[in-house]
Amino acid sequence: MKFCSDCGHAVSKKIPEGDDRLRYVCDNCEAIHYQNPRIIVGTIPVEGDKVLLCRRAIEPRKGFWTVPAGFMENGETTLAGALRETWEEASAKPVNAVLYRLFDLPYINQVYIFFRADLAGGAFAAGQESLEVQLFAEQDIPWDEIAFPVVTDALKEWFDDRRKDIFPVRMSEVEPIWHHK
Ligand code: ZN
Repeated sequence: MKFCSDCGHAVSKKIPEGDDRLRYVCDNCEAIHYQNPRIIVGTIPVEGDKVLLCRRAIEPRKGFWTVPAGFMENGETTLAGALRETWEEASAKPVNAVLYRLFDLPYINQVYIFFRADLAGGAFAAGQESLEVQLFAEQDIPWDEIAFPVVTDALKEWFDDRRKDIFPVRMSEVEPIWHHK
């Protein structure tokens, strides 16, 4: 951030009084511009033993497959955001959505929250941000073409859980890829 979004003057990094970390503070109006993590919400829409994936029509990772998900908007709940993204990207309105998976990605200041939800025979079609949408059984998932590692992890967990018919809510911290061998 270079300029104050309130008055347009330059900002500097300072620790405001009573705070304990550097913030962007306006040199003119003294507005403090906090920067906080972004929350990505989405669903794992399922039909029996199949999962609905969307092939991305936009960057990043254009052409790769993902579950419907996107940035949460102000004024909505996490679930409402997940269902909105599912509608926008897959033209689907799944039912019985329940919290399933949370990933913390502090190295890029993101949190992913996925709900699992039942398509219940409902329609789906590619939305504006998708090239195509398709139901995949486990053996047909294009594992090498999944857009994001968190999606790969959540899908593998879902297929494992489905075999046991137990779907615990999980959370974990994701480390940057360069921490792995
Ligand atoms: Zn200002």
